[in-house]
Amino acid sequence: MLTNRTKNLYQEVILDHNKNPRNYREIENFSHMAKGHNPLCGDKLDVYLILNNEDIIEDVSFIGDGCAISKASASVMTSVVKGKHISYVKELFSGFHDMATGKAEPGQQPEMKRLRVFAGVRDLPARVKCATLSWHTLQAALDNREKITTE
Ligand code: ZN
Repeated sequence: MLTNRTKNLYQEVILDHNKNPRNYREIENFSHMAKGHNPLCGDKLDVYLILNNEDIIEDVSFIGDGCAISKASASVMTSVVKGKHISYVKELFSGFHDMATGKAEPGQQPEMKRLRVFAGVRDLPARVKCATLSWHTLQAALDNREKITTE
């Protein structure tokens, strides 16, 4: 069960990031990119990143069209993964995924404080794919798969 406080925070964060998305731009000299598509909702997001030779994400951005949850999630994701090593990003993604699907409680990583507002989607199964689309797309970019779909 989510408390009212968590629910209000969830709405605030989603409204704020949707209105004012962070890292919403193309990166011209990207090292990796992928296109994500969630046909259930119609969300389409492109994720760009620059990975340095120590496997640290130096820069990351996204563009695209989607519902408020998919855009807010992409915006928060790009803010938390910037400057992080890809093995840590994988850990965050798996924690985020488990939280969004209701498999596990949010982990102890400091970034989870910002990601846990999306725990609200566990009560809205159709929205889980919206919230996780940017993460799947980021993962596809890191795996050098150009296109992914959540179907
Ligand atoms: Zn959506």
